[in-house]
Amino acid sequence: MKSILILHAQVADGTGAPLRKLNVRITGDRITAIAADLKPQPGEQIIDAKGLVLAPGFIDIHNHSTDGLESDPLAESQISQGITTIVLGADGDSPWPIAPYLAARRANPPSLNIAMMAGHATIREQIMGKDFRRVATQDEITKMTQLAEQAMNEGAIGLSSGLEYDVASYSSTDEVVAEAKVAAAHGGFYMTHIRDEGDKSFSALDEEIAIGERAHIPIEHSHIKLGTVSVWHKAPEYIRTIEAARKRGIDFLADCYPYDAWHSNIKVIMPDKQYENPASVEKALSDNGGAQNITITEFKPNHSYENHNIAELAATNHITPVEMYIRIIREGDAANTEAEVIGKSMIEPDIKAFYQQPWVMVASDGGIASEHPRGAGTFPRVLGVYVREKHWLTLPEAVRKMTSLPAQRIGWKDRGVIREGAIADLTLFNPKTVLDRSTFAKPLELSIGIEKVIVNGQLVWDSTHATGSRPGRVLELTHNP
Ligand SMILES: [Zn+2]
Repeated sequence: MKSILILHAQVADGTGAPLRKLNVRITGDRITAIAADLKPQPGEQIIDAKGLVLAPGFIDIHNHSTDGLESDPLAESQISQGITTIVLGADGDSPWPIAPYLAARRANPPSLNIAMMAGHATIREQIMGKDFRRVATQDEITKMTQLAEQAMNEGAIGLSSGLEYDVASYSSTDEVVAEAKVAAAHGGFYMTHIRDEGDKSFSALDEEIAIGERAHIPIEHSHIKLGTVSVWHKAPEYIRTIEAARKRGIDFLADCYPYDAWHSNIKVIMPDKQYENPASVEKALSDNGGAQNITITEFKPNHSYENHNIAELAATNHITPVEMYIRIIREGDAANTEAEVIGKSMIEPDIKAFYQQPWVMVASDGGIASEHPRGAGTFPRVLGVYVREKHWLTLPEAVRKMTSLPAQRIGWKDRGVIREGAIADLTLFNPKTVLDRSTFAKPLELSIGIEKVIVNGQLVWDSTHATGSRPGRVLELTHNP
């Protein structure tokens, strides 16, 4: 069987242990030997990793490449970050049914591994159709649990929700608990974009913890953040609430992207959904620090709005920012679409406090062709900025947050770690140069410093380019490699 020997690497094994200089042999799709004194065998491929760090391949537990993979199975913007596995179906939104999607990926594999969440909002829409602006009946909830059962049987690894978004925002806690119980019975976890990430962050957190407690299910809190002026600087309090839940036995982990701005649709800043009520809009804009903090990135009915913030658009149109917001809402509704926006709404001390918690992992909330720089830059940015420049994290701890911690959430024991017998998903990077290059203006710029990426024993990324190999697999909870 074909083997590869990686020589002289500084190994960050994914557990958080200090770097160790070791040689690592890969045979087929497995790591078969790790030692300081491995000698090359005849015909073996050699990779000289002098000066480089060898880590387990990064696992991105919140990735929006579901559509992107269909047209871009090489996923260069992902593997160039050192990512070897992406989890799709976040925020309550998944393909439906999921089986044909997974079958298509098996038939036409991508360069990296994928896994799929069952989307709560997706399931809700199957049962309620367009009549979703209300609490579901008991009968409807029963039907939803049957679809959750179907998704788990088809290979979903858990249930995701996006309770802040339109379809799911009308759901009761009971409805979510009922579906989460199904995922729990299959050994899955509950991943959630909670009901509010602004003024009501704390009550939304309480609901999330209650769901975990009532459904007896491990929690993955998506893109942890405190997103409005009234909760800025409250990370210590938020963390205390989570720590208290963890002490009570709730299996609570979270992920965080390394940016102080979010990307979503324009309606998400209005938790009361009074999109055309000037007083509500006024409050929403000030909660986000002002209209200058909300920038339109995509608006199909009027492309001239793109790359301008609401304050600029208001000035250009000689109206108030509140009137401008309402105009964009109306033009979007008339065209049955919504503006995509970037909101600058988080502060660095809160991001730092979250990143320094041992239960917070790295995830992108991005993906192929993302309009947010996190789609192409998240993992190198953490290594380059939070580790090398700011010293918020040690390198082994940052690697742990990208590898064994997400693997632990999912329950995978043979990925996310470098040890003999584990699957050879590996990332080799230069700790002195690794860095993101993507920006809000140029979100697709590829990162630098990720030298080689190996997926299931095959080289998929080599310094500056994808090799063309597509060894990615569909991974399940008890996957059979
Ligand atoms: Zn989200």
